[in-house]
Amino acid sequence: MKSWKSFALATLLLGSLQNALAEEVVVYSARNEQLIKPLFDAYTKETGVQIKFVTDKEGPLMARLKAEGRNTPADVFMTVDAGNLWQAAQEDLLQPVNSKVLGGNVPEHLRDPGNEWFGLSVRARTLVYNTARVKPGELTTYEDLASPKWKGRLCLRTAKKVYNQSLVAMLMHEYGEDKAEQVVKGWVANLATDPFPDDTKAMEAVAAGLCDVTVVNTYYFGRLMEKKANLPLAIFWPNQALKNKAAGVHVNVSGAGVTRHAKHPAAAIRLLEWLSSDKAQNLYADVNLEFPANPRVKPDAVVAAWGTFKPNLINVAQAGALQAKAVMLMDRVGYK
Ligand code: FE
Repeated sequence: MKSWKSFALATLLLGSLQNALAEEVVVYSARNEQLIKPLFDAYTKETGVQIKFVTDKEGPLMARLKAEGRNTPADVFMTVDAGNLWQAAQEDLLQPVNSKVLGGNVPEHLRDPGNEWFGLSVRARTLVYNTARVKPGELTTYEDLASPKWKGRLCLRTAKKVYNQSLVAMLMHEYGEDKAEQVVKGWVANLATDPFPDDTKAMEAVAAGLCDVTVVNTYYFGRLMEKKANLPLAIFWPNQALKNKAAGVHVNVSGAGVTRHAKHPAAAIRLLEWLSSDKAQNLYADVNLEFPANPRVKPDAVVAAWGTFKPNLINVAQAGALQAKAVMLMDRVGYK
């Protein structure tokens, strides 16, 4: 009896000692639980660090961070699209992180020049076309989709989505406002039908022959083809032959930063470093059929099968910096 009591006491003491020593990180994530939980479980298993997380859309999470101010429990803010990450930095919700590891793992064009956020996976916003209705060689660039030969053949997702706002912002950075406006105006003139609420619906319209080509993030193509492998759809990598600033496929990121008022900043940085590392990058990217941000890591076989492409190398932060102007431009040309 006595030994049982001392065993229980020792267990109790050990438990509270472990709690005192246990490190934890609190993450606010606009990526959903199904994508981040396996990753966080792997991190806890490897390091013993507990991760608590809250998932919601990026808007409410940023509002919550702002409202909580210095009382926030959040150490890390995680979301998709450089436009959203830029917004968080702009609203002073993040802090600069000086990490050689992150600098070495994440290419310069995929992270904030001020080091307040880092891309952790890459999504390419590229062209998807109907293989029965588009001849090889007909497609060339995003800009060419504004030419009269695509009249009535283009489908697009709504201008309300940040992905398209970022795409237009990048065009503005490449060509200046006037030329970018001509391109987007041309797209609108070529639409076969009203813009769609999501990338998948736009691709389904292409597959059904309602239009011939659309612009989508590659992981939506991957998800759709996993479900319906015989749809007459294929990926095209545009802007590969260009030599100007617009050269390369438009890429964006999902990523994260350390919050301005993090209670565990060192632990938060260690988590971000791990997420960018060779061993975590596949866990992070493959689950959503994205490309690893770390160029040393190979993508999942499904993703690799789409072929390689030259990405556009303009810093993705430009997607945020020009976002408000992009929204106004799209509104001016009637892109709904
Ligand atoms: Fe998405």
